[in-house]
Amino acid sequence: GVGRHEIARRIRTIADFPKPGIQFRDITTLILDPEGLRLAVDGMVGAVQGPIDLVAGIEARGFVFAPAVALALGAGVVLIRKDGKLPGATIAEDYALEYGTDRIAIHADACTPGARVLLVDDLIATGGTARAAVRLLRKAGATVEQACFAIDLPDLGGADALRADGITVSALVA
Ligand code: 5GP
Repeated sequence: GVGRHEIARRIRTIADFPKPGIQFRDITTLILDPEGLRLAVDGMVGAVQGPIDLVAGIEARGFVFAPAVALALGAGVVLIRKDGKLPGATIAEDYALEYGTDRIAIHADACTPGARVLLVDDLIATGGTARAAVRLLRKAGATVEQACFAIDLPDLGGADALRADGITVSALVA
């Protein structure tokens, strides 16, 4: 799409972070640049189909994009956090990591039944995080049909797995 290269060239790759052998895609350089930030947010907003009530951002880099996208859509923001961080009553969902498991949570009253929720994060890799977020939001009563990411790593299959869960997936760069 328009501006895809303009976004891609503002994302840098840092070798061996957080562990040896990992090529980490760093979006801090994208959002440092005012034009990069605008292109990224506009690109996410432009991929959305139909009305959205809430934008759910995944801790921590999803929090950068979720409020900007929500303001453009006239939606509110839901924070999906690591378990133990939210002050009110929560519902949680576990997901598998390479070694062990992790747990994400939202406030139990964050979504009114049938609220149309757009999921947002900076990057989808294996899809483990995003798929757990969709399960969590659906458990909370939300209608989740769309997700957008700044970056898709398609070789890891996460976007396809998310599509198999009934989600329309968009990414700015792959
Ligand atoms: P997944 O669960 O799809 O395997 O991993 C995606 C999650 O891990 C996202 O929340 C994302 O922020 C983080 N993540 C994994 N690899 C990278 C990376 O190379 N760059 C960035 N910015 N985030 C990553």
